[in-house]
Amino acid sequence: MITPKKLKIYNSKDIDSIPQISILSENELFALKVVATVLPFRTNNYVLKELINWNNIPEDPIYQLNFMQKDMLTRIQFDEMASAIKRNNPYEIKNTAIKIRTELNPHPAGQTKVNIPELNNEPVPGLQHKYKETALVFPSKSQTCQAYCTFCFRWAQFVDVNDIKFSTCNKTGFLSYLQQHKEITDILLTGGDPMIMSAKNLKEFISLLLKPEFEHIQSIRIGTKSLSYWPYRFVTDKDADEILKLFEHVKNSKKNISLMAHFNHYVELSTDVVKEAIKRILSTGTQIRTQSPVIKYINDEPNVWEKMWKDQVALGCVPYYMFVERDTGANNYFEISLLKAYNIYREAIIKTSGLCRTVRGPVMSALPGKVMVNGITQINGEKVFQLNLIQGRNPEWCYKPFYAKFDPSAKWLSHLKPAFGKTKFFYQDEINKILIDSENYDLSFNDDLLNSQFQLNYD
Ligand SMILES: *Cc1c(COP(=O)(O)O)cnc(C)c1O
Ligand code: SF4
Repeated sequence: MITPKKLKIYNSKDIDSIPQISILSENELFALKVVATVLPFRTNNYVLKELINWNNIPEDPIYQLNFMQKDMLTRIQFDEMASAIKRNNPYEIKNTAIKIRTELNPHPAGQTKVNIPELNNEPVPGLQHKYKETALVFPSKSQTCQAYCTFCFRWAQFVDVNDIKFSTCNKTGFLSYLQQHKEITDILLTGGDPMIMSAKNLKEFISLLLKPEFEHIQSIRIGTKSLSYWPYRFVTDKDADEILKLFEHVKNSKKNISLMAHFNHYVELSTDVVKEAIKRILSTGTQIRTQSPVIKYINDEPNVWEKMWKDQVALGCVPYYMFVERDTGANNYFEISLLKAYNIYREAIIKTSGLCRTVRGPVMSALPGKVMVNGITQINGEKVFQLNLIQGRNPEWCYKPFYAKFDPSAKWLSHLKPAFGKTKFFYQDEINKILIDSENYDLSFNDDLLNSQFQLNYD
């Protein structure tokens, strides 16, 4: 039996009231407060009590997952904010925070203009349609999470920068779009975290998609980290049973329903309550597929992935994606090279059975699509990365191996140069055309920024 628990959230202003916080030295506490003034901080009573091992801080992976570290800002940024806080001038603190946030690349890869679906020449808010079959939906009531990951590349959504937010304020636009686009078979609800919604709100949303005019939609996916941050959502919360009934209802309506669960470390799979939550969700006929970015200090070791995937399969989940963290927020702190990410993936996966090998990685969710590092090889004396698009803006680009010069320090697609003396990758001309075609838009949001459950990475 799982004892019910009431969610207690701690935001940056509540840091002093965190019961375990006295373990931190005065300097550590001050550093946390300085960084938490710039980047969004949030943790909760379950993470604090059940997931973090306080005898192992600051190295503990779940501590790193929720608690900011001094080095997440540059020395200059840190000192600037530290002095503002010491002077205790709220106006100065606010402006310094805004200034530093703009230095942290809130719109990675400068691709703020593509992927915006249109209906009658108007952009449709709350929707993103990058790959033919799948549309992402951002319900307006799901733009937050039960705790915040320090590496989240949706961080800009959670701080007070109003021009970066984006959601379905108006339902009719996105519904008409989905109705007209019969090629869409999958809907992916994302946020923030859609499981932050009450059962009632979630039901209202999902019921719309069960209507006959959406017969072409075969799968409803929900991107969520709630199994990791608040598994009580599916077990003892007041409307937990109602959530499970809703999942069952979708299943009975002859649609597939999948939770795209974000887990970064096997510790998140270790508590009785998460195991019970997974069991209850699976009992409704819902699938659970898992994904995570590979993140320095949290899971940058093959044995963490090996155990995580094995534990997931043992619990009935399907490993799905291993992502590369992208260039936004505190990524200088977290990022690792593509070479290292590939080595982690390979060393972990070769120790598993085929049931874990459904997981694809390391994957970069980049401008042309999802680019996977297949491996490293030598062709005609040139050492190269073999790459492959597993999703593309143009489906024709997918599953055709292509090559980049081997570069042990490259951390993202943009750092890679084509191999064999070529000047561009095969999709580049088409990408340029897409960028030019979308020049008439200047909306200040971005698909990858809004796409954290995939990287989820980043989500
Ligand atoms: C990853 C992703 C999807 C889903 O792709 P699948 O391969 O179907 O899991 C859809 N839209 C965007 C923008 C994505 O990044
Ligand atoms: S990575 Fe996902 S769960 Fe974590 S803070 Fe971002 S949106 Fe929320």
